[in-house]
Amino acid sequence: MRLSLLFLLIVQIGFSQHLVLQGVNIVPIHSNTVLAGYDVFIKGGVIEKIKPAGSQPYAKNYTVIDCKGKYIMPGLADMHAHFPDEKSSIQLQEYLKLNLAAGVTSIRSMRGEAYQLALRDSILSQKKIAPNIYVSCVFPTSDSLLTKDSIEKMVMHAKNKKYNFIKYLGGINETNLNYLTESCKKNNISIAGHAYNRSLMRSVEAGFTSIEHYQPILGMYMKDSVNLKKNIEILKQKNTALCPTLSFYYVYGFGFSTDQLVARCGMNFVSKKAGDEWMKDYEEVLLKTKEQLKGDFDSKYVQVYKKQFSDFNRVFKKMTDEGVLMLLSPDDGMFNVPGFAMVEEMKLYKLAGLSNYQILKASTLNAAIYLKEDNVWGSVEAGKKANLLLLNANPLENIENVSKVEGTVLNGKYYSQKSLLSKAN
Ligand SMILES: [Zn+2]
Repeated sequence: MRLSLLFLLIVQIGFSQHLVLQGVNIVPIHSNTVLAGYDVFIKGGVIEKIKPAGSQPYAKNYTVIDCKGKYIMPGLADMHAHFPDEKSSIQLQEYLKLNLAAGVTSIRSMRGEAYQLALRDSILSQKKIAPNIYVSCVFPTSDSLLTKDSIEKMVMHAKNKKYNFIKYLGGINETNLNYLTESCKKNNISIAGHAYNRSLMRSVEAGFTSIEHYQPILGMYMKDSVNLKKNIEILKQKNTALCPTLSFYYVYGFGFSTDQLVARCGMNFVSKKAGDEWMKDYEEVLLKTKEQLKGDFDSKYVQVYKKQFSDFNRVFKKMTDEGVLMLLSPDDGMFNVPGFAMVEEMKLYKLAGLSNYQILKASTLNAAIYLKEDNVWGSVEAGKKANLLLLNANPLENIENVSKVEGTVLNGKYYSQKSLLSKAN
């Protein structure tokens, strides 16, 4: 009798579509506030209603999760992700699991491949439990086979296969860029990626919806600081989003000690083998760079990066304050633990002077705004998709509290971090 009751309870938590997050504090994100002590009702994958704790009775078919003292915020969106390949230390299944366990419920894949389309669709139909993914169709970097016709064919292929956007990686001449952007416009598919010719403003003009990495932003400022205000206005007017991906460059800029690297968020959840591989790679790159630069390693490498980061931070803060749409991702690479490195990137945004609210917004609602899905997800409001992150401490008070994950709600179903990271999964 007892056993079957216990079984029933487990089944209910696993499969129930009806949840109450009881007595939870809400960090809604669409406004900069905390709503203390609410019951969040979730039904059919959507936030049904939000009521002061205990003010409404719970119907019998709702599973109640005691969330007193905890904080709920929208699930995180990693907007510059690279899925693992066969050489990666962490393989796909583990990669998706770690992301979900860290509270990431949306991933923009910057190195899209055809298999990811089927994966995306099986996640959408809830056959597979993993963050929602947005898949890029990577555009060739060489002009050699490009003509107006071949470009049109490629864009139509991306559209017909239902890729979410076209990623510009680099290369191609102005004529082909124009064919590409015209074709994207005509076929109503967006283009995003690396800055064309390293120029932020040229890429904005070409209609890129987002521009990746910090260098083009810094480059624009260094080249043309007098026009910063004007350029900010253009970015805002065109709704161009920026995703600086700092964490990757801090690691490769040797900005961290090895002690700091092994203590990065989530390192305790990756296998010893993966951690060792990263350390070996890191030490190899470090040694090679030192050998190449000899006595100039510090002055011509470490200090150059440091100076770039501090210059970038100033312009980054200003642009964020002025309302440019900022996204967030640590990018991939060694010591960026899938999902968990989001908080490492947040710490770098903090270092640049952004407020905790600006940082949380960049990693949730801004992504939904960018994808034109902010009427569906990205904030904790009735009617929004129940893709949520349950924390044990207030992330508005301290950004590092984003690492204190209790569980993730995905499509209205609750998964404790413990259960996601247990060996059985
Ligand atoms: Zn990248």
